[in-house]
Amino acid sequence: MNTIIKLFFLTVIIPNIIIAQKSKNNYEYNIDLLHISNDEVRVSFAPPRNTLQHGKFIIPKLVPGFYQAMNFGQYVSNFAATDKNGKKILTERLDKNSWLVHDLKHVHKISYQVADGWDSLKNDTQEAKSPGSMFIKDSVFVINYNSLVGYFEEMKDIPYQINITKNKDFYASSALDYTQKNKNTDIVWAKDYRQLVDSPVLYCVPDTTWLKIGHTEVLVSFYNNKERHYSKTIAREIENILKNQQAYLGGTLPVNKYAFLIYYESSNEKGFLGDGLEHSHSTVCLYRSGSMKFLPNALNRVASHEFFHIVTPLNIHSGEIQHYDFLNPVMSKHLWLYEGMTEYATIHMPVKQKMISLEEFEKSLEEKIHGMKEFDNKFSLTELSKNSMERQDQYMNFYQKGALVGLCLDIRLRELSGGKMGTQDLMQLLMKKYGEGKYFNEDDLFDEITKITYPEIRTFFRDFVEGTQPIPLKEYLEKAGFNYDEATGKVTTFPNPDLKQLALRKAWINQ
Ligand SMILES: [Zn+2]
Repeated sequence: MNTIIKLFFLTVIIPNIIIAQKSKNNYEYNIDLLHISNDEVRVSFAPPRNTLQHGKFIIPKLVPGFYQAMNFGQYVSNFAATDKNGKKILTERLDKNSWLVHDLKHVHKISYQVADGWDSLKNDTQEAKSPGSMFIKDSVFVINYNSLVGYFEEMKDIPYQINITKNKDFYASSALDYTQKNKNTDIVWAKDYRQLVDSPVLYCVPDTTWLKIGHTEVLVSFYNNKERHYSKTIAREIENILKNQQAYLGGTLPVNKYAFLIYYESSNEKGFLGDGLEHSHSTVCLYRSGSMKFLPNALNRVASHEFFHIVTPLNIHSGEIQHYDFLNPVMSKHLWLYEGMTEYATIHMPVKQKMISLEEFEKSLEEKIHGMKEFDNKFSLTELSKNSMERQDQYMNFYQKGALVGLCLDIRLRELSGGKMGTQDLMQLLMKKYGEGKYFNEDDLFDEITKITYPEIRTFFRDFVEGTQPIPLKEYLEKAGFNYDEATGKVTTFPNPDLKQLALRKAWINQ
């Protein structure tokens, strides 16, 4: 009898103990979207099990994709810690974004309130809204976890469980999978802080459409306070682009799930306002306008560039990106890759996939060249990348010169390989070599690319990416039978290209 009871205890109790202990090795958060007051959301969490005398709690100063301090800690108030008996434990605010919590090992619960970063796209400043959060009670919530959730510097790389209390009619649109605990509570897990912050969520009465692109599930989620059935229209537009991107990327997309979260604010004023931020598995798009007519077009452009980020940085990135420091980030020198190559794919894909004509492609090159001339091109792209926080005025050149460097690299690779290899193949090779969980060393990338391509490519990077030599657009476009008139900025095809030029053009843009 005794033995039977013991056995019973062993089988029933022990798994529970294991579960209880396991659950203490993560942050467990409660976010209440139902009982908000003064536009503030109540947040509380239990820290992971620890033996620490004290800990430094951090809310990000900035997030990936932004190069200016955004100080998300500024939205946090009434920060308090208590032990298991509800007794207060001392905390001190160290600066805008960090708090010192004493006697951390005895802290049972930490609670605070969070104000939203924007409640209308209308208001005043030019400040980017996309990485902030927005709450409209009983209507819509755009949540970027960097403004609601933090971490202890002493306890990083730990999973998160988030319990969300919400209106029973609300649906969570996100790249992460939310499960419903009951009609008012959702639960979501993230493997670490980086993944949580990288996965925003749109909470509202759903207007959603799912697409299947190869094996990838794509969620298109739309919010507007008047129009409640628009996601299908947008999804149809995006689908064509995504299918072409799939073909361009060799037939398979390197993600299982992707989400487009689109918030659209109606306005009586003329013109439109757009803001957005890409993430590894999702994109947030914020728009404000008097008419929805422009939306499909605007979204097409955004979808194309942002979705290509599933290649880089998602699957090709350095340690600086993988171990992003949310308080004092160290900038990577490879923005030429993350933004430049992404933007190059965005202009190369339509011509390669025959979505646009040769003339339209020439126009897009002319726009890039014209755009590049607006910037100071005496900077090396690696230098500029390292200093992107200080050189905000030059940052946008990664979408101009960065894309054109991609174009020159593509032509050079095609030339050296007799047409067999281009940047599409190079990115595939790099994705295979690294992938989502494995990063490259900042200083080794150019040598690594040289190893899997040609010795001449090292010179290319030395001259045009690390160095400050003007990119050889005229010379390279000529190799593919194009004339670039440096005086007028016009790009045209040669009237009588030779066979070599035609072969390279065919390999490069399939025309
Ligand atoms: Zn981008």
